[in-house]
Amino acid sequence: MSLTEIIARRIAAEGPMPLSEYMALCLGHPRHGYYMTRDPLGARGDFTTAPEISQMFGEVIGLALAQAWLDRGSPDPFCLAELGPGRGTLMADILRATARVPGFHDAMRLVLVETSPQLRAAQARTLAGRRADWADSPDGLPDLPLFLVANEFFDALPIRQYHRTAEGWRERVIALDQGRLVAALSPPVPLGIDAPPGTVLETSPPGEAIAEALGARLVRHGGLALIIDYGEWEGTGDTFQAVSGHGFADPLERPGEADLTAHVQFGALAMAAADGAAAAGGRVAAGFREQGAWLAALGIGQRAAALARARPDAADAIADALERLTHPDQMGTLFKVLALTRAGDPAPPGLAEAAP
Ligand code: SAH
Repeated sequence: MSLTEIIARRIAAEGPMPLSEYMALCLGHPRHGYYMTRDPLGARGDFTTAPEISQMFGEVIGLALAQAWLDRGSPDPFCLAELGPGRGTLMADILRATARVPGFHDAMRLVLVETSPQLRAAQARTLAGRRADWADSPDGLPDLPLFLVANEFFDALPIRQYHRTAEGWRERVIALDQGRLVAALSPPVPLGIDAPPGTVLETSPPGEAIAEALGARLVRHGGLALIIDYGEWEGTGDTFQAVSGHGFADPLERPGEADLTAHVQFGALAMAAADGAAAAGGRVAAGFREQGAWLAALGIGQRAAALARARPDAADAIADALERLTHPDQMGTLFKVLALTRAGDPAPPGLAEAAP
C-alpha cells in the first residue's frame, strides 16, 4: 500500500488529520517516510545544507564548541552530540577541527541522534573508525555535560497550524475530497489567543519538547546547545513548505517523496528551554544571532583566507562558499543560531555581544 493510500484510509476511518500528523507520516513513516527511504542531501538530492556547501562551517563550529568546553573547565567526560546529522559531514568537520584541542577527544562521548536507518549508515561511513553511539531522541543522551549542535533539524519536525477566521481559530487539517488529499480547516477550536482574522499561527510540539529537555539537561549538567536553522524569533504566518529537487513542490502531491518543513520559531524554542530549565530548578541564557554575523565572529573569514592560501586553485570556490554561507542575500540572514547555555556560565563564542 502506498503512503497516499495509508493516509487516505486513516482519514476515512478517523476523520481529517492535523498537519503535524501528516508531516510525521510523510517524513517518518517507517517504510515510506521521506527520511527513512533516502539520503535527500546534495546536488542530486532535494536540498543542500551548510555543511555540504563547505567544510569551513563545521570547522568554525567545532572550534566554538571546543572553546565553550575549555571555558567551562574542560569537563571530563562530556557528551558531544548532534541532532539530525544528515550524512555526518558536519560532525566529521567538527572532529577534524578539534583533533588538536588537548584532551577534547579523550574526554568526549560522541552521540548522534538520528531516526533514519539510511542516514545512520551514511553517518557511520563518514565517521568510519570513530567510536560513536546512536540514539533515537535526545532522551537517549547520557547524563553528562552536553555540547550539542543541530543544523536544519528543527525545521523538519512536525508543526500544527492555526488560522484565525471569522468563526475563530481553525486548525489546518488534511482531509479527503472524492478520494484525494486536500488541505482543509477544522471546526473552530478555542486557543485563547486574540488576533485579527487572517492571522496564521504555527507551533511545533515536538520541537518545543526537545528544547524543554535540552533546557533541563543544561541546568543539570552544563554545556552548550547550538540550534541553527532558517526561521525567525517569532512566527511569520504560514511557513509550511515542500521541497523537492531543489525547488518548491505541492506538499499534498506525493506524500513521502518531498521534504516537508516549516520555519523555526526560535523564541518558542527559547521559551520551552526556559520552562525545562525552571522545572530542573535553574535558568538558561539564550543568545540569538543571524548566521552570517555569527560565522564572521567565529572567524570564518580568516578560515576562508587560510584555505585559499593553501589551495590557490580552489580560491574561487572557497570565496563562493563563504558568500553562500554568510551573505544576506544567501544564507546569512535567513538562517539564525540560537545558543542555549546555563545562566551564569560563560557566553558562547560569537555570541558574547548578542543580547539574550
Ligand atoms: N544536519 C544535517 C542534515 C539536515 S536534514 C545537515 O545539516 O546536513 C535533517 C536531519 O534530521 C536528517 O538527518 C533526518 O534524518 C533527521 N531527522 C528528521 N527528523 C528527525 C527526528 N524526529 N528524530 C531524529 N532525527 C530526525
